[in-house]
Amino acid sequence: MCGIVGMIGQVNTKEILLKGLEKLEYRGYDSAGLAFVNDGVQVHKEVGRIAALREVVPADADGTVGIGHTRWATHGVPSVPNAHPHQSASARFTLVHNGVIENDEQLKAELNVDLLSDTDTEVIVQMIEKNFNETGDVAEAFRQTLRVLHGSYALALIDAENPEVLYVAKNKSPLLVGLGDGTFNVVASDAMAMLQVTDQFIELHDGEMIILTRDSVMIQDLDGNVQEREAYTAEIDASDIEKGTYAHYMLKEMDEQPAVIRNIVQQYQNEAGDITLDQSVRDLVLGRDRVYIIGCGTSYHAGLIGKQLIEQIAGIPTEVHISSEFGYNMPLLTEKPLFLFLSQSGETADSRAVLVEAKKLGHPALTITNVPGSTLSREANATLLLHAGPEIAVASTKAYTAQIAVLAVLAFDLAQPKG
Ligand code: GLU
Repeated sequence: MCGIVGMIGQVNTKEILLKGLEKLEYRGYDSAGLAFVNDGVQVHKEVGRIAALREVVPADADGTVGIGHTRWATHGVPSVPNAHPHQSASARFTLVHNGVIENDEQLKAELNVDLLSDTDTEVIVQMIEKNFNETGDVAEAFRQTLRVLHGSYALALIDAENPEVLYVAKNKSPLLVGLGDGTFNVVASDAMAMLQVTDQFIELHDGEMIILTRDSVMIQDLDGNVQEREAYTAEIDASDIEKGTYAHYMLKEMDEQPAVIRNIVQQYQNEAGDITLDQSVRDLVLGRDRVYIIGCGTSYHAGLIGKQLIEQIAGIPTEVHISSEFGYNMPLLTEKPLFLFLSQSGETADSRAVLVEAKKLGHPALTITNVPGSTLSREANATLLLHAGPEIAVASTKAYTAQIAVLAVLAFDLAQPKG
């Protein structure tokens, strides 16, 4: 995973974007870049850490609208030309992208323009310019381009001729809008990047775009129909995502494990010591003849322990599968399967692909995740939260132990109807 930030405001855009990118560093990346509109557009990019990007951004550079990106290369090596933002031929449009465009070769052949990078992203911004030259309408040019993209994207686009608007879109890659105080608005791949300026966020759904100004947020589907959506408060304490006196986030998170387990006990057990899962979870799992645990990496390994717990405590046959394998090669299922998704972030794309298939087949899904409101949480029938607080280190520690603890709670609850 990698990240996007964007801001349309009055001042200090550069520092807010750089700080936002630093908060996204935990997601992993190989290069980074920024662009601002200020009497034309300035683009700055560098390979390596955000600290290296800071070095190449001139001290007096700034703008009132800007976008930033951390890249995890999928098309083309990590290099300055391949780093985002990318620009259209006239440099009027500047774009950042997270995700993978699957039909980029076909689009490049149709467009027939010289590209400066090896990415699957640059063709998008060139198409926006071509569509703009034909329609004279930026929102329409953006919408027309989105309609022909296949694959995953979170996009943020700025127009050098109009610093009053930031254009945003999403399909299968995470992206949120953060609401400002009427003088600014922001976008980011996750709320942590923008907690520095707001705790009010609006989710975007797949296949939607947003036209963002300093004081308005207009969500549209790709036919231009306006969508209404309430904001929610991100319940993350900004201090939870600071390292404090620890040298590394991983050390801090290992130390937090006893507190996390105490928190889970408090959340799921009443004073009499009984497990109290929501009735919605109980209804979902009742009468299921097999549990299919789906996860990647560390979550898959927590799932292997979950299998032991569910089989030994609750006596329900359980299988554990790696999401990416399951997605392409679904085994024969029993009559009444329960799908159980394990994901710290709740955004694991391969797990989500399995969830979409399970839903198509009409099977119930339960997600165990650390992030309320995440995609896997929203799209499953019910969620059990890990209550572990943000996990920043890439190597999972407290989220792994929390997954096992919550799986134990679930196994115990599943066992109760059987006495
Ligand atoms: N596919 C794009 C690239 O390789 C974006 C990768 C990313 O999500 O950072 O540049």
